[in-house]
Amino acid sequence: MTPLAVPIAAKNLDQAEDQAKKAIDAGAEMLELRTDYLEVLSTDLVKSLIAAVKTKRASQIPIIVTCRDKLQGGAIAYSDTLRVDVLTNAVGAGAEFVDFEYEKFLFVDNQERIKLALSQSPKSRLILSAHNFESKFDNIEELYRHILTVYPPAIPKLVYTANHINDCFEAFDLLHKTNCERIVWSMGTPGLISRIIAKKLGSFLTYASIDDKNATAPGQLTIGQLKNLYRWNDIDCDTELYGIIGSPVAHSQSPAVHNTCFSDSRMNKLYLPLLVEGGKENLDRFLNNILARSWLGFRGFSVTIPHKQNALDYVKAKQGFVEPLAEKIGAVNTLVINEPRATSHEPRISAYNTDYTGAMDAITSAMDITRAGFKDITIAVIGAGGVARAVVAALTNADAKIKIYNRTLKKAEKLAQEFNCDFAPLDNLPGIDAKLLINCTSIGMHPNVDETPLPKKCLREDMAIFDTVYNPAETLLLRQAKQAGAKTITGLSMFINQAAAQFKLFTGQDTNFELMQKIVEDIR
Ligand code: NAP
Repeated sequence: MTPLAVPIAAKNLDQAEDQAKKAIDAGAEMLELRTDYLEVLSTDLVKSLIAAVKTKRASQIPIIVTCRDKLQGGAIAYSDTLRVDVLTNAVGAGAEFVDFEYEKFLFVDNQERIKLALSQSPKSRLILSAHNFESKFDNIEELYRHILTVYPPAIPKLVYTANHINDCFEAFDLLHKTNCERIVWSMGTPGLISRIIAKKLGSFLTYASIDDKNATAPGQLTIGQLKNLYRWNDIDCDTELYGIIGSPVAHSQSPAVHNTCFSDSRMNKLYLPLLVEGGKENLDRFLNNILARSWLGFRGFSVTIPHKQNALDYVKAKQGFVEPLAEKIGAVNTLVINEPRATSHEPRISAYNTDYTGAMDAITSAMDITRAGFKDITIAVIGAGGVARAVVAALTNADAKIKIYNRTLKKAEKLAQEFNCDFAPLDNLPGIDAKLLINCTSIGMHPNVDETPLPKKCLREDMAIFDTVYNPAETLLLRQAKQAGAKTITGLSMFINQAAAQFKLFTGQDTNFELMQKIVEDIR
């Protein structure tokens, strides 16, 4: 059990009590009283604060008292003598834990005073912390061992800034290799996942804020995010991990979509945002890190910009399975990690493209046809970028006859040659006689919501119009198509279908499609 500890960073007693109430109501399982935020710090004030939380709130919630050194992230620069006074008095007042900097604990006077207080209140425990706000520690394992050598009953707390998601793996390794009580994670946005995975790997606690305003460290998540979005209460050592690899990923809907569906299907699976910054080299390092640590339990990934081609190259280089049409498209958006081969310790990795599946499923369900039905329909595809390529590959694979229209004619020509289609400049669009028109450009996408690739007068009742743009859900093109009486297919429907296909690849089971649809629509 890894409790959620919520820092109370208040300037005075009233504010502290208010924050403590909010934290307990929100589901905090431990409170960290950050007394270095108190504006007029005294040992009496800290004792009153502990009493207020313990008695007035009638709470059984364990308390950590911290008076952080300004040099290690403290709010106000209080003297070491006062800080040690605060902690020794907190021990006497019943605080279950006090947190002190390991570096300062090496000073004999500080050490003796804290040890004496702890010997008089054996129920209180000491957390010995080390922070690196710039980067990784030089040798985190050595530091961990030093802390326990100096004071074996301590709970070591080792926290460092991850400048890239690949920096998190040292924290994971330390948690994996050790099993006594310890607190280890990485700060900063690239380190965000380490706060969540800490529970799976048995960290003594994880910190969360009441809300964004009250965060005391970069990358700290709120209690609400951890409990509602990241399935905090369900995470255990057997939880299987998934996530979306991309840059940026912060605004991706995929964690909400997949976690809600995992929860609905009562699956012990968790889906995370995986910010992999940089190009191929960093993606390769990230995936190598994952494959070298099967104990982390990663089982699959969604892949988005800018890694769709790099992910395909990675799987090919690892001689993993690549879905043939994904290889033809030249990009993948789904990776699945399977059990290791009998002859190898490294898991097998497979690559798929559910963007094209999503597009095909969106069209067939809206037009009430099977994939075999495409050969009888004249289709116009607008655009020659990544999405157009996936759509054209899938449709030509189903024997459809396609004409590609693009602003840059050379690109249309190249795509058309590769998939044996016709092509034409964008200016020829008004003369189209297609039954199905698919917009694969970003025309009409937020913020250019008043733009459309096709004049209104060209839209007819006997047409079906599919706009892959999903922000906004109803583009000007779709609105005008509806007014003309044409059938419309939304980019959102493609997005939901591709997520449903991904869920099936991840779990082997069909998702609750209506639920997935509802989550996506609710987020908008
Ligand atoms: P991409 O590779 O950058 O291709 C963009 C395409 O749009 C190119 O053909 C480009 O023409 C054309 N284009 C852009 N601005 C234009 C303009 N002002 N006038 C005429 N043509 C213009 O992008 P992509 O990855 O294919 O994504 C395209 C769209 O698909 C995105 O905007 C997104 O809304 C949508 N999408 C939907 C989903 C879904 O699940 N529904 C998933 C991914 C993407 P040039 O070749 O002349 O530059």
